[in-house]
Amino acid sequence: MLWKYRRLCRETALLLVVIFCFPRVGWPWGWLAHRWVNQQAFAHLPAEMTGFERWAKVVAAHGSDADYRKAWDPLESPRHWIDIDNFPEFYQGHLSHNLDSLKARHGQHMDVYGNGVVPWIIAGVTETLSVAMAAGDWGEAVLLAADLGHYVADCHQPLHTTRNYDGQLTGNKGIHLRYEIDMIRRNPDRLKADPARAVYVEEPLEHIFGTIRRTWSFVDSIMSADCQARKKDPVYGDDYYQVLWEKTGRFTTKQLSRASRILADLWYTAWIDAGRPAFPPAAAVVTCAGLQADPHAQGLMNVQGVVTIGSGVLDREHTRLYIQDQSGRGILVFDHDPVAEDIVRGDLVQVEGIIHDYRGITEVSGPLVTVLDRGCAAVPPRALTTAEANDPEWDGTIIQVRGAVVFILRQERWTRLHLDDGSGAIVVLAWKDTELDLREVQEGDVLTVCGVGTYLADEGSYAILPGYEDQVVREKD
Ligand SMILES: [Zn+2]
Repeated sequence: MLWKYRRLCRETALLLVVIFCFPRVGWPWGWLAHRWVNQQAFAHLPAEMTGFERWAKVVAAHGSDADYRKAWDPLESPRHWIDIDNFPEFYQGHLSHNLDSLKARHGQHMDVYGNGVVPWIIAGVTETLSVAMAAGDWGEAVLLAADLGHYVADCHQPLHTTRNYDGQLTGNKGIHLRYEIDMIRRNPDRLKADPARAVYVEEPLEHIFGTIRRTWSFVDSIMSADCQARKKDPVYGDDYYQVLWEKTGRFTTKQLSRASRILADLWYTAWIDAGRPAFPPAAAVVTCAGLQADPHAQGLMNVQGVVTIGSGVLDREHTRLYIQDQSGRGILVFDHDPVAEDIVRGDLVQVEGIIHDYRGITEVSGPLVTVLDRGCAAVPPRALTTAEANDPEWDGTIIQVRGAVVFILRQERWTRLHLDDGSGAIVVLAWKDTELDLREVQEGDVLTVCGVGTYLADEGSYAILPGYEDQVVREKD
C-alpha cells in the first residue's frame, strides 16, 4: 500500500485486530454514551472543583480514546470489561477483589487478565489521576479524567460484566451492538442526569465491585427484552428497538446517569487525595509556530487562527480542519467526532485542546472550537518549489507549488499525484470527500496546487492536501 490514510489506518487496524486477534470483541458503549457520561459528570462536581469545568469539552471529546487504543495496544481490550460470572465464587458472594489472589487461584485454568480487569483499571487510573493533579500536570490529568470516564461507563454496561456478552450462550447473538449502540443512538434525548453531588470514596475498588454486581444483575433482563423485541420484529426494525427500549430503557438511563455520578465521585476523590490543588486558569494563547516547535508538550493549549480548510471538506466523518495564524504556520485541529457547527474557510476561530504529535503530524485534539469572526481574508499560501514542499516545516501550513504531473494513482478514497518542477517531486493527495474532480488530469499536465502540508508516516515523506476546487488549477495547453 502506497499510502495509508492515517485515521483509516487506525480504524482498519482496529477492525483487523478485533476480528483476527481477540477471541471476543471489546465493544464500547457508543461514542455518544461515553461523551455524555464524561460531560455529565461535571454537573455532579462540588463548587470547589468549578475550575475543572474549563476542560469539560476536552474531557468529553476524549471519552473514547481508550477504545481507539485497542488498535495498537493488545493489552487494552480487557481493560474495558470483566466477565465476572466466569468466577464460580462470584455466585456465592465471596469473590476476592485482589487480582493477584485471583490469578493464583484461577491462573491454571483461565486467563484472568483476558477475562477482563476493568475494576482494577478504574482504581489504578483514579490513583494515577490523583498523582497528575498533585504534580500540576493538567494536560495529563485531563486525559486521565477522560479515560477514567470511559472505563467507568463501560463497567455500567451489563454486557461488559458477563461471559454471555453477546447473548451467544442464550440464542441472543448480536445483542451487544443492538443494545449499546443502535438502541442508544435511537434515543439520545432520553438520557437523563440525576442531581446528586459527588462524594469522597474511601475504597474505589470496593465501590466499583459493588457497582459491577448491580450492573450484572441486568444481564437477564436484556436477554429477555431481546427475545420479546424479536418476537414483535424479527428483522430488527423500528418495532424491535421500540420494544427493546420499553423493556430496558429505564435501567439503562439509570446506569448511565449512575456512571456519570460515580465518575464525578472518583474525580473528586482523586482531587482530595492530591491535596485539593488549584485548577489552572485558561491556557495562554500560543502561536501555531510555537505549537509546531514543541508538539511533545502534551499540554492544554489555546490557539487562535483563520481557517484554511473548513470542517467536512477533507473528511466528513471527523473534525479535520486547519487553521493558520500570524506566525505564518498552521496546524491541524482534529476530533473523532465532527464539529457541531459548520466551520468554513475564512472563519477566525479560537481552539482550546490538547496538543500532541500523532505519527509525525502535530495536531490539536479534542478541541473546543469557538468562532470569533467570519469572513476574514484568505490566508495566502507560501509559494515553494516542489522539493522545498517536501519538508516537515509545512505540516499544517498552507503552501502552493507548480509542477508537471509525473505520476497518477486513482483509488476509491483518494487520488494521488506526484508533481515535479524539476527540483524533485512532491506528493499531492486529493481525498474523496473533497469532491475535487481530477478525472481529466493526465501525466504531463502542469498544475498549480495549493493545500496544507502533511506527513506520510508510512513513507517518511511529506505531501500536500488540497481541499477546494480553486486549489487545483490545470494549465491550458
Ligand atoms: Zn470501552
